[in-house]
Amino acid sequence: MKEIILIKNGELALKGLNRCNFEDILIKNIRRRLKSLGEITIRKAQSAIYLEPKDESFDFEEALQRVKLIFGIAGFSRACVCEKEMEDILEKSVEYLKEPLDKVKTFKVEAKRADKRFPLTSPEICREVGGKLLSKYHHLKVDVHNPDITVFVEIRDTNAYIRAEQITGAGGLPVGTAGTASILISGGIDSPVAAWTMAKRGLRLNAIHFASPPYTSPRAEMKVKTLLSKVARYSGCINLAIVPFTKIQDEIAKNCPEDYFTLIMRRMMMRIAQKIAKDSGSLALITGESLGQVASQTLPALVTTDYVTNMPVLRPLIGMDKEEIVTISRNIDTFETSILPYEDCCTVFTPKHPKTRPTLESCEQAESGLDIDQLIEEAISETTYTYIE
Ligand code: ATP
Ligand code: MG
Repeated sequence: MKEIILIKNGELALKGLNRCNFEDILIKNIRRRLKSLGEITIRKAQSAIYLEPKDESFDFEEALQRVKLIFGIAGFSRACVCEKEMEDILEKSVEYLKEPLDKVKTFKVEAKRADKRFPLTSPEICREVGGKLLSKYHHLKVDVHNPDITVFVEIRDTNAYIRAEQITGAGGLPVGTAGTASILISGGIDSPVAAWTMAKRGLRLNAIHFASPPYTSPRAEMKVKTLLSKVARYSGCINLAIVPFTKIQDEIAKNCPEDYFTLIMRRMMMRIAQKIAKDSGSLALITGESLGQVASQTLPALVTTDYVTNMPVLRPLIGMDKEEIVTISRNIDTFETSILPYEDCCTVFTPKHPKTRPTLESCEQAESGLDIDQLIEEAISETTYTYIE
């Protein structure tokens, strides 16, 4: 039996004239994500997208797993392709629906006739298919109000399709429809969740990581790459910039008051990130900050950090509790990696009594012993780039 994947767009339906453009980007994303599984034909018609494998060896199960993670898809289902004849539809529905129907007691059939030339009306199709299934599966009863399962028969332009229930998709908007932004990624729990959250709203991601060898180990860098590859299953490939940060941290430790270490470090990160982000075509920065979570995330601290950039800083987790963030992190499978114990560059230099109510003036005073421009230039010139898929 020939099977296809039938995809229903998410919010796309709301986008009016942009819809076509959104659909094209979604199709491109689907194509890219499934490319390694074999050749497929992709067709769009009446707010649905049809994925049809071209050969037998196509890994259907893996394709379903991948489709489940693609943003911009509200729901999808596997469907069986039939001739547009009742005889074929009846025969295939018995065979194709056996597995899902074995697991339930009640069902109903819904039919949709996009091709009005088809000789039977929708209620007639429902009656015939329902009758056939009842005659073959004696444990079943029809329940039109509250069925365990609804099966669908659709008569479309070239074929008819039979499918059981829809699987919920990842939702959101297709990645690339909202432009590009750069996520400041640490090895922690929050920043991968922030990255995922913004990719879900259609942003393509670049990433920036600050590494401080030998204070941080190569394993910490590996961890960041693993986290990004997990995010990339949703967002598509990510260009990662790794910025050497050791010298800057040493200079801060040598020349600045200890209670300002974290703040000054954050300000240096933002200055560098902004430059790298602009050069890579990003329109905004993204961080994993959540209001009040730690000393450097009080409102005054965030304000003094923001003073050094004129790029918008998106903080999608700003109003979330840690528990809510952890829940998402488990759902997107980054949690177990995030809690691996390797030091990141923030924990190495954490002051004993960090400033929680800094002012801009006191901050500028505290970092006045640094040659900021020189440090930034050096760090950027030694930045390396990797592609994460
Ligand atoms: P996370 O769990 O994302 O590490 P956090 O709660 O530990 O966040 P901080 O360490 O204060 O908070 O970092 C705040 C944000 O700054 C992070 O979410 C991330 O966006 C960015 N950040 C922190 N460390 C780094 C780093 N080494 N490289 C790049 N960005 C970083
Ligand atoms: Mg952290």
